[in-house]
Formats: sequence, structure tokens, C-alpha cells
Amino acid sequence: MMRVFAAVLTCAMFSGSAIAANPWEKFDEPTSGPASSIGSYANGCLVGGEALPLEGDGYQVIRTSRERYYAHPLMIDYLVELAKENKRLGNGDLLIGDMSMPRGGRFTSGHSSHQTGLDADIWLRIGDKQYSRKARENLSPYNVVDMQNYKIKAQKWTNEHAQMVQLAATDKRVARIFVHPVIKETLCKADWPEGRDWLRKVRPWFGHNYHMHVRLHCPKGDESCTPQAAPPAGDGCGKELYSWWPKPKSEQEKKKEQEQLLLAKSTTKKPAKPVYKDQLKLKPLRCQDLVTGTLQ
Ligand SMILES: [Zn+2]
Repeated sequence: MMRVFAAVLTCAMFSGSAIAANPWEKFDEPTSGPASSIGSYANGCLVGGEALPLEGDGYQVIRTSRERYYAHPLMIDYLVELAKENKRLGNGDLLIGDMSMPRGGRFTSGHSSHQTGLDADIWLRIGDKQYSRKARENLSPYNVVDMQNYKIKAQKWTNEHAQMVQLAATDKRVARIFVHPVIKETLCKADWPEGRDWLRKVRPWFGHNYHMHVRLHCPKGDESCTPQAAPPAGDGCGKELYSWWPKPKSEQEKKKEQEQLLLAKSTTKKPAKPVYKDQLKLKPLRCQDLVTGTLQ
């Protein structure tokens, strides 16, 4: 009984503080010790993380002031090697966006994954020159999808992009790469004489029209890391992909939307701040120890 009460109390305390101030944001440095990705991609933390040097051969880190350039050493090695190989093929620099915070955990804003040091965003804007760190703070990303017509922007999407996704996905360390459904469709329609197996890992997901999101497998032998089920068999270029397309709205739905819009305009009440459900999730025990300082 006591234990149940203690667990509930810990949960309440942890949830409360997670909403008031995100405790994961306060860490400036990773913990020392052997690297471990604890929990799942969207509910976990990182021990023994490493910082990616802010610029390197074939890549530049974007918005470094956010300090989201930490990851499991496996991800650091992967990115460094990917950038080198991409450059060797004659392509521009990879612009690296969000990775993880020094000890992982949930970002206060933005995506819910990136918590265990095994996720990284790579922009679909390609670095055509060396930008200063200051310039990289304000660089704007490129949207490669015409959202109105659900088509790729022919003037923005290049072979270099396609090659970049292929190269990134072909690596054995990669579990999944998320791109906008329209990008996946574009890749599906292209000719790949060296094989299409890697397309299985390229998964359609909304919001990935400015960047692709690379997710690595759990490190071998890391029992604390919760893997994700493998993507369905096949290249994922058929029916499943098109289930992501917007469905035409019925007259009744359009009318309802119009009414809601008018209602929103007429009311002065400010909408409530969204509370992310996963901020309320109870973290794995080792992550709780990490955040309370019990585990250094
Ligand atoms: Zn991401």
C-alpha cells in the first residue's frame, strides 16, 4: 500500500514539475560514464551523451544556442560518417537541426521524441557555403512540399536531396527516417537501380517537409533501451502511403468548419495553452534518478 502511495506521489511530483518547468532543460552537460539510451524514443533519457562538434567535414549544426546537439555516441559517429560520405559524393553540407539535450528528456517545445539521443533532424535546406554560427541562428529552413496541392516543389527538391535520404537510410544503424508523405511519394517514383530495400525505413509523417528525421536502432546490448517494432514489410509505396493524403471534405464538413471559424473570431477568450500528454508520462526509474540528481 505504502509503495503504491509512494509511486503515485513520485508521479504527481514529477508530473507537476514537468509542467511548471521542464527539468531536462536545466542540464548543461551530459553525465559521464558508459553511454546508455534509457526508455523509448518518446519517453526516456540519455546517460553518457556526447556533443556533436558544431561544424565538421560536410556538416554544420543549426541554432546552436538551443543546445540540442547532444546524442548517444552511436549517433555522433553516424552523423560524422554520413556527412563525410555525402560530401564525397559532391553534395553540399548537411545542416543538422535538433538532436537531444545533454541528458535527453522531453523538449519544452516541439517534437515529443528525441529523448534518448538516438534521433536527429537534418534540414532539407542544403548548406551551399560555410555559415557563421551567428548566421546559423537565424537561417530559415526550406519547405520542399507545396502543401496546397500536395506536390513536391520542383524548384526546391533536387537529386541531391534524394541521394541524401538514400544514403542516410541505407546505413544499418538506422531504424527509421521520417519524411513528409509527398517526399516519400517522390522517392517511391524515382528509379533506384541499386535496389529499393532502404525505402522500407523511410516513413511518411506530417511535419517533415522542412527536415528529415533520422532515428537509430537501440545500441546493441543496451538493455535499458526500448526498441520500436520494425516498419511493415515492403517499400511502403502503395496504399499505406496514400492513406496520408487529405480526404476531400463533404459539404457538411465544410459548413461546420466555417461555423467554427466564425465562432473563434467572435469569441475573445484566449485558447488554453496546450499541455502535452507525454509531459505527464512517468519516466523510467533511471531517468527519474537522473533528473533528481541521484544518478550523476
Ligand atoms: Zn525530429
